[in-house]
Amino acid sequence: MKNIYLVKYGEIAIKGKNRYLFEDALLSNIRNSIKKLGKFHIKKEQGRILIEPEDKDVDKDEVIEQLKKVFGIVAICPGIKNEEISMDSIKETALYYMKNICQKNQYTFKVETRRSDKRFPLNSMEISRDVGAYLLKNMNGQLSVDVHSPQIRLNIELRNSVYVYSMVIPGPGGMPVGTNGKAMLLLSGGIDSPVAGWMIAKRGVEIGAVYFESPPYTSERAKQKVVDLARTIATYTGKMKLFVVPFTKIQMEIYEKCPHDQLTIIMRRMMMKIAERLAKEENALGLITGESIGQVASQTIQSLAVTNAAVELPVFRPLIGFDKEEIVQIAKKINTYEISILPYEDCCTIFVPKHPETKPKLEYILQSEKSLDNMESLLEEAIANKEIIMIE
Ligand code: ATP
Ligand code: MG
Repeated sequence: MKNIYLVKYGEIAIKGKNRYLFEDALLSNIRNSIKKLGKFHIKKEQGRILIEPEDKDVDKDEVIEQLKKVFGIVAICPGIKNEEISMDSIKETALYYMKNICQKNQYTFKVETRRSDKRFPLNSMEISRDVGAYLLKNMNGQLSVDVHSPQIRLNIELRNSVYVYSMVIPGPGGMPVGTNGKAMLLLSGGIDSPVAGWMIAKRGVEIGAVYFESPPYTSERAKQKVVDLARTIATYTGKMKLFVVPFTKIQMEIYEKCPHDQLTIIMRRMMMKIAERLAKEENALGLITGESIGQVASQTIQSLAVTNAAVELPVFRPLIGFDKEEIVQIAKKINTYEISILPYEDCCTIFVPKHPETKPKLEYILQSEKSLDNMESLLEEAIANKEIIMIE
């Protein structure tokens, strides 16, 4: 008998002819997420993924913690496997498993059986009934049956082997990263953008990230914070490229030449333009921001429209209809919150106007941008001076 993990996946099972692509991506993402914990056999097994540790002393809790971060996984079921298929071996496996999980207490239980091999002489109901009776007889009076809300739901799956498990640990859902193309996240040190990136990655999109820094107004610590946020996102997505782009000269130029109530919106447009060029170099098909309607002046519906007009690529704003509290809840769940609230300066707060425009009109903004005759070369220079950090 061997310890195993059965992995259940949902949405990706229904993708018709593309199904194997999704399964292969999930398999490879699972492999990457647990490889540092030991050696594993990982394979597809009729609508499930089966993980078998090769070493006996692999840390089970660690494996589960890692799997809980792999998008595409609906549930993780740690259990045991017996390669021999017979009624005797099923009973023996079930008893072995129950003895392991039941301490010296009383439990209510129920047996549920699924069999993909219909040639087996007994049907699912009969197997459950027989195994139930066998356990009642052999567990020294520890068990009683409760078919409605049992404390232990003992699952038996008959496939190429016998599998027994009772715990069904929820996975993150979503789709395997890498199955839905790539997008470029504008990642600041705030609460919102890491959540936005996580949400798009959850839908199977590979993520690259760009951070605009404004030295000497922003510090090395502020940058480190963004690196830490990227690392946290990467615990879900696997490795990721982070571009750090120097933005000070561009901000100074805008500050000198444009009306101050338009600073934020013009700065935002320049960020989008640079992010779009990086996205194209990286074959990314969209941009991601953490904006939500009305949160601040630069996120009114008018401002968002003017920001969008700076680029051709679609801009994904998964938080668009979220309240701050809802965003904070996700940030806490995905472990970015504690990093995001560290009080380091942000490039946008340094050049904030006293009275930012809340209803900008594109034609006036374009008019103001005409005075930025030097901007194209500043954009090019910023991109040329970018730093690339590989986040693992
Ligand atoms: P966040 O919490 O994500 O910083 P925010 O509510 O503070 O969001 P803004 O500062 O107005 O909002 O920024 C809006 C969006 O613009 C951010 O969600 C992020 O996607 C992008 N952004 C802002 N500043 C930067 C930066 N320095 N580098 C990269 N992207 C940025
Ligand atoms: Mg911010």
